[in-house]
Amino acid sequence: MVKDSSANKVYGLIGYPVKHSFSPAMHNAAFSYLKINAEYKLFPLKEDELKGFFANLKINNIFGLNVTIPYKEKVIEFLSKISSEARLIGAVNTIRVGKDGLDGFNTDGAGFLKHITNDLKFIPAGKNIAIIGAGGASRAILVYLSKEKPKSISIFDVDTSKAEILVNHLKEHFADTEFRQERGIEGLNISNCTLLVNATPIGMKGTDVCLVDEKLIHNNLLVYDLIYNPKETKLLAAAKKKGAEVSNGLGMLLYQGVDAFEVWTGQKAPVEVMRRALKEAINK
Ligand code: NAP
Repeated sequence: MVKDSSANKVYGLIGYPVKHSFSPAMHNAAFSYLKINAEYKLFPLKEDELKGFFANLKINNIFGLNVTIPYKEKVIEFLSKISSEARLIGAVNTIRVGKDGLDGFNTDGAGFLKHITNDLKFIPAGKNIAIIGAGGASRAILVYLSKEKPKSISIFDVDTSKAEILVNHLKEHFADTEFRQERGIEGLNISNCTLLVNATPIGMKGTDVCLVDEKLIHNNLLVYDLIYNPKETKLLAAAKKKGAEVSNGLGMLLYQGVDAFEVWTGQKAPVEVMRRALKEAINK
């Protein structure tokens, strides 16, 4: 079938499930603002549907994709090239459909770094940083944080082997930072840190406990929770009470989207339009 070249370009999110995503609101607002004839859609895909989906991208007029759980690693086999950062992270969240094949990127870590440096004015160089969680999101932000040469990064994950593999990987690639794997949250030495990141899903459910003992939180700390729904986790509420600066993960979501938009379109993303659309979507 030959496609009408005037048809809308299609972009979208693949994953399973994807129905609660705020990305369509953010990207469609940007397309509409810049008068780009394109639409961002959700593609909930089962694993056995991936191969057929990738074989039919051109027919379906698809020019770019975001990738979420559980396919950020799995999609790599369908790509012709991946960026050096995505390779270091071992996962792809953004795909550009090029003339010669599919290019993979990871904008999660860059999105986190942009949010903390641009908006929160946190400079990682020379700082002591503590991270809870050593999964996919943690790997992405750690690669970008490490490039900024913090003094030390301590990591704790209940899955100790995952944390150990990550720490060894980072030590191999970033010589300017001291990386430590801790056996418990107390070992993270939060009193000596200026950034604490929650990169676990603990806090998403109302029944989840506050991950960190309030007594460890101080007012010279930025507490960043990657979770953005709910807007304020118990960790953020406790940190706010102790006078720490706090942020949820909505800014990371925004800037990973900004970077993905620029990769796909080659145009400067309308950041404030996207920020407003995200805020409206989450407040609905
Ligand atoms: P993931 O791959 O499942 O990693 C989470 C890690 O945390 C796992 O290794 C998990 O261990 C560990 N963990 C669970 N409970 C813990 C605890 N009490 N203490 C220490 N470690 C614990 O998940 P992910 O993809 O990295 O996502 C993590 C969070 O970030 C999610 O809430 C996700 O929604 C959020 N996120 C936000 C953005 C954004 O743009 N703001 C982007 C990506 C992800 P087990 O596997 O053994 O449970």
